[in-house]
Parts: sequence; C-alpha cells; structure tokens
Amino acid sequence: MAAPIRVSFEFFPPKSEEMEKSLWEAIGRLAPLSPNFVSVTYGAGGSTRERTHSTVKRIVNETALTPAAHLTCVAATKDEIDNVIQAYRDAGVRHIVALRGDPTSGIGAKYAPHPGGYQHAADLVSGIKRIADLEVSVSAYPEKHPDSPSVQADIDMLQAKVDAGATRAMTQFFFENDRYFDYLDKVRARGIDIPIVPGILPVQNFKQMKSFAERCGTSVPRWLAERFDGLDDDVATRKLIAAAVAAEQVLDLVDRGVTDFHFYTMNRADLVYAICHLLGLRPARAEVPLSSLSQGARVPARSAGG
Ligand code: FAD
Repeated sequence: MAAPIRVSFEFFPPKSEEMEKSLWEAIGRLAPLSPNFVSVTYGAGGSTRERTHSTVKRIVNETALTPAAHLTCVAATKDEIDNVIQAYRDAGVRHIVALRGDPTSGIGAKYAPHPGGYQHAADLVSGIKRIADLEVSVSAYPEKHPDSPSVQADIDMLQAKVDAGATRAMTQFFFENDRYFDYLDKVRARGIDIPIVPGILPVQNFKQMKSFAERCGTSVPRWLAERFDGLDDDVATRKLIAAAVAAEQVLDLVDRGVTDFHFYTMNRADLVYAICHLLGLRPARAEVPLSSLSQGARVPARSAGG
C-alpha cells in the first residue's frame, strides 16, 4: 500500500492583535488536517523571541497539535539559548527546528557568530541534544545557501547537522522540482538518509516572494513570472494562479515519490488547505490513496480519436 501523505505547517509569531487573530484562524482551519507538526519561526530580537515562545506555548496548551519551535544562534550567548531550550522542554515542547539564522542587519550581510554563542546550526543541534533528547529538524538548500561556496559545502553542513543528531531537514522553498531531485541525489550519494522534506511556498504575493527569493538563493523561473504577469492589482486571479502553480508542483512531487511536505503558510490557511485537499487530506483523515493521485488518474488519457 502507498505511504500516506504527511504535512507540516510553518507559521510566524504575530506582531499585533489583528495578526494574532488571523494566525489563530489559520491554525483553526488547518488543524483538522492533522499535520505531523506545526512549526513557529524565531527572530533575533527579544520581543520576537517572546512572541515565538508564547505562540508555541499556546499551541501546546490549547490544541492537540504537535508544535516544533524554531531556534537560531543569532545574537545570544550559549547560556541564553540553553535557557530557551530548557523553557521549551519544560513547557512540553519535544521538537526544535535548529538554525544558524541570519545576521541581525538582514539577509545578505556577512554573518558573524556571537562570541559566546553557538557558532553554527550543527553546534546548536549538539547543544540541544546535550540538554534534552528532543527531536531536531534542520534546514536544507536544494539551490545552495547564498553564504555557501558550493553545493558540496552545503551538504557538508547538512552532514554535520545530521551527525550532531538532526533527524529531518525541511528545504528552502523552490519552484523547479528537478533541482530538488538533483540535490536529493547528491545528499543520498553522500550517505545522508534523513527525510529531506520539500518546503512549499504557495505564492500569496509574487512581488514579495521574488524579492525574498533573490535574497535567499531561490531561483524564480521565467515561466512562473509569466504566470503572474499583469496580476499585481488582481488579488483574486493571483490567488487562483497561486493555487494552480502549487498544485502542479506538489502533485508532480507526489508522482515522483514524495510523501512529506512542509508548507510555508505565511499565516494564511486558504491556499494551503486547498492544496492539502488535492493531496488527499481530509478533516476526518479519510485519505485518498496515493495511487488515485497519479498523473494518469488525474488527466484522462485522450482516446485514439482525439
Ligand atoms: P546552515 O545550514 O547552518 O548553513 C547554510 C549554509 O551556509 C551551509 O552550507 C554553510 O556551509 C554555509 N554557512 C553557514 N555559516 C557560514 C559562514 N559563517 N560562512 C560561510 N558559510 C557559511 N531564520 C530565522 O531567523 N528564523 C527562523 O525561524 C527560520 N526558519 C527557517 C526554516 C527553514 C525550513 C529554512 C530553510 C530556513 C529558515 N530560516 C530561519 C532561515 C535561515 O536562518 C537562514 O537561511 C540562515 O541564513 C541560515 O541558517 P541555516 O541554519 O539554514 O544554515
């Protein structure tokens, strides 16, 4: 029997009451799809750290979801980060997404580790494992992290994170599935066998996505730009196109054997919910068998007569 589809959802901590309301609406809508886990991102400043912590705690206390708290090495001593890890453990959190993080001056600036802090993501994974036997996920970059001199250097870092105890990687978002599979081949050739879960970004806003993609090293193919061309002021059509693009991407990944997906929700449920529906997920967890999602089943073959 085909393996079931498993999804995880990434949220960011809200900055205002209004954003808090929309976050919880999104969580409420997506929760019945029984995600494997839901993760909450982490920022470098004190107030954003606090917001991550309170959001994760609320997920623990008020929902049946399994939270994963993101944590970075940025701008903090080892002691400070260890306190955060202990606080998560004490709050009942059992899964951390361990990252190096970006410089406080923004993506693209040269990264310098805090002199008394964890030096890089692999160092942080070791630190977490020293404190508690928590599940640790990490990042992976099918198109290479911009700081990395080569794909092989990137895979060295992934290997170091796995050696330190990471058991899953979620990828940076990408649009060309071949790039994901090329990367996966290289990772497997190195002997790394943890799940490399594709990170899927439904494109809520093409302009914003493009500017972010440029900074984080994700290529935006011309065909994608063409699909959103002329829609800057047409939110409704943009949304339909975004759903179609993401649907095409995930269904192709399914056809090629992928069963786990990590969705960058941007705290909005509608597109992600629709894509999960296409993947066969239902609120009652009545899953559609993978075989019925195959290309042949989705697109009826033309009869000889055309
Ligand atoms: P790593 O895996 O540690 O490194 C990536 C690559 O950069 C490696 O190839 C390594 O060789 C190279 N590298 C690392 N450090 C150096 C260096 N000093 N000099 C030269 N090369 C170097 N950011 C947040 O702030 N908060 C979050 O919650 C968050 N969540 C994320 C979740 C996912 C799934 C992903 C993919 C990214 C997330 N990020 C987050 C972004 C991430 O912090 C940045 O991409 C950051 O620049 C790298 O951190 P990392 O742990 O991914 O990098």
